Amino acid sequence: MKRVLALLALLALPALAQKVPSPSDFLNMQVGADRTLADYKQIRSYFRALDAASPRVEVEVMGKTVLGEEMIMAVISSEENIRNKERIKEQSRKLADPRGLTDAEAEAIIRDGKTIVLVTCNIHASEIASSQMAMEWAHDLAVANDPETKRRLDNVVLLLVPSLNPDGETMITDYYRKYVGTKYEGGRLPWIYHHYVGHDNNRDFFMLTQPETRNLNRIAYHEWNPQLFVDEHQMGSDGPRMFIPPFADPVDTDVHPLIWREVNIVGANMAHRLEQAGKAGLIYGYSFDAYWIGGTRNTGWWKNVTGLLLETASARIATPANIEPSELHGGAKGLIEYKATINHPNPWKGGVWRMRDIMDYERIASDSLLETAMIYRADFLRNLVTRARAAIASAKPGEAYRIPKQQRDWPTAQHLAWLMAEHNVEVRQADNGDYWIPLAQPYGKFVTEMMEPQRYPEVRLQAGKEILRPYDVATWTLPLMMGVEVERTTMPRIQTKVVTDIKPETKEVIRRGQALPKMPRVATYKPWSASIDEGWTRWLLDTYGVPVKSVTPQDVQKGPLPYDAIILADINKEILKTGSPRRSESQIRYEEEMPPEYRGGLEKAGSEALKKFVSDGGTLIAFDDSCEYVIEEFALPVRNALSGVKAEDYANPGSLVRLKIRADHPVTKGMPSEVGAFLDSAMAFETTSPATDMQRWVLATYPEDERDVLLSGWINGADRLTRKAAAVALTYGKGKIVLFGFRPQNRGQTHATFPMVFNALWWSVAP
Ligand SMILES: [Zn+2]
Repeated sequence: MKRVLALLALLALPALAQKVPSPSDFLNMQVGADRTLADYKQIRSYFRALDAASPRVEVEVMGKTVLGEEMIMAVISSEENIRNKERIKEQSRKLADPRGLTDAEAEAIIRDGKTIVLVTCNIHASEIASSQMAMEWAHDLAVANDPETKRRLDNVVLLLVPSLNPDGETMITDYYRKYVGTKYEGGRLPWIYHHYVGHDNNRDFFMLTQPETRNLNRIAYHEWNPQLFVDEHQMGSDGPRMFIPPFADPVDTDVHPLIWREVNIVGANMAHRLEQAGKAGLIYGYSFDAYWIGGTRNTGWWKNVTGLLLETASARIATPANIEPSELHGGAKGLIEYKATINHPNPWKGGVWRMRDIMDYERIASDSLLETAMIYRADFLRNLVTRARAAIASAKPGEAYRIPKQQRDWPTAQHLAWLMAEHNVEVRQADNGDYWIPLAQPYGKFVTEMMEPQRYPEVRLQAGKEILRPYDVATWTLPLMMGVEVERTTMPRIQTKVVTDIKPETKEVIRRGQALPKMPRVATYKPWSASIDEGWTRWLLDTYGVPVKSVTPQDVQKGPLPYDAIILADINKEILKTGSPRRSESQIRYEEEMPPEYRGGLEKAGSEALKKFVSDGGTLIAFDDSCEYVIEEFALPVRNALSGVKAEDYANPGSLVRLKIRADHPVTKGMPSEVGAFLDSAMAFETTSPATDMQRWVLATYPEDERDVLLSGWINGADRLTRKAAAVALTYGKGKIVLFGFRPQNRGQTHATFPMVFNALWWSVAP
């Protein structure tokens, strides 16, 4: 059908442009206008129409989302390139993995190869402008007849993903349309904009826990091997208008420096074209660093792909924001005060800011991307080969990681091997079952980055001043997080074969042979603050087949609570109590009003209901911040020794710490005597002797010597943790309480501590 249409279009060439509908005409709405949004289904239907009408556009299905929506990507290029799609893919694959490729063969591919550019939009569903812009951009590329655009399309293949989060986009457009015209118009969603992980969908690109992440990973690293990857985001409304790389410090020195040189070329041209168009407020070297690995395009840095992030200031979804000049401020790394600096030479002066402005900025940057990808086509292809060869050459002869079959938790070890293969890392298996990952391969740097402990590079901008803080967490060491034994060694001369279809036996790991009297009835508490950690908790239980329900503040207050266990995920104490965070005098600012049905916290009634639930025999399980609420409301003989600690005395953006585990308790059953746990808050317990009708057990403690605390990441003030408790279990009336003073299920990554969560659930139904 497609081929017939393409043929017809060829015959009727002069009329072609008229036959390709614009998004506004096709959807019968003014795309980009105030208070107007195309939703995901409309966007997808438009791209399907473009595919049918234009030989330059081909829509590919990427896979399904968590909620079963179809994810699409448009391949956009010249008609000839679209026809030669498979050959172009094959050429790019050879450049990305040049093992066995001679210089002459590489040069031949570089001579007629195309730059492959991946652009992803709308991963954060409320950052919605890029998904609207994508339709207009695709349309204009489909109909353009000017020589410059045609030259770009001849040299570049654009892979355009209009939304990396279709489910979230549907949630956002539904909610926006429901409240448009009311005083709640443009307000935040009272739940997370992804079924499980909300904003953390952009923290998942090394762990690949979500189908959307895996779909993109397949497109990028198995199928297309793009040289450039640009992810389009939005940021706050009251600072610079648009962040375009160069990135801020620190930099990971294992990433090939040509990555940063290419990032800077692409970014500089974007800013240049925007400035020419009279667009103010562009900034580089701001906030977003060149070190953290978890985001869409970041993971690619260690896979030799040049990844850029764009962040444009937000409106209130599709509602204009009116910003007074005095409301504009700096306050982030790279712009302390809001004024002209070399990385921000033309500050925006304030005024009305609309979704259309965001789309215009994004469009100029996106067009500039194609221009640069065309101009530097041969360089970008050649540099990819250079980077891949450098990664291969950096390994010592025979250097490899071994994942031995003989280990405590083989199913989780299999999961790690599966994950590496899913990343298109070459994983081999020996006859005895051991997995081997040779380092002399194009993604060798990525393997090392995921296997070794992180030591955060401390960078100061002025002598004696504070170091630059990490953008996100400071650790991603998989063997420690997953509790898997891995050895870096030299590969012996043994027979191994490449394995690509590893099927881990992960579901069985959770019960560890424990016979349960019954499956516990489990609920997680879902505040109206949109708790991402609550989502991850549901993900964990759903993934391992433990049925779970979410309960709202109103559900808890109203009762009944027919559950064996209730989990309070990592939620701020004030949000648990009242629904909104408490701010100090200096932080007081406007708190947006939510619709009445989405207001409030547990309040007094909810607290009483939880106490009755536990007194009557239920089990309450608290993660991280929620422990403070439980300690206070239940008057437990436990205190957080780090409560109120000053930032200069203790700081930890997210690191792996060593815990010593007590052996003889149901919650620690099957755990090793030491484990790496993920900690990102100021929390460490001191317990005291309880009254005679209460029992308490310290389940996990920090080491005595501060040098033993940190396993991977960065902590300032680790001495504050020594000898403190990290997890405590107590009885309370007929029920039980378990306090985890860390994140036992952090972002679906911490397999090493998942069993403690399940054990706590099993304990709730123990006789
Ligand atoms: Zn974002």
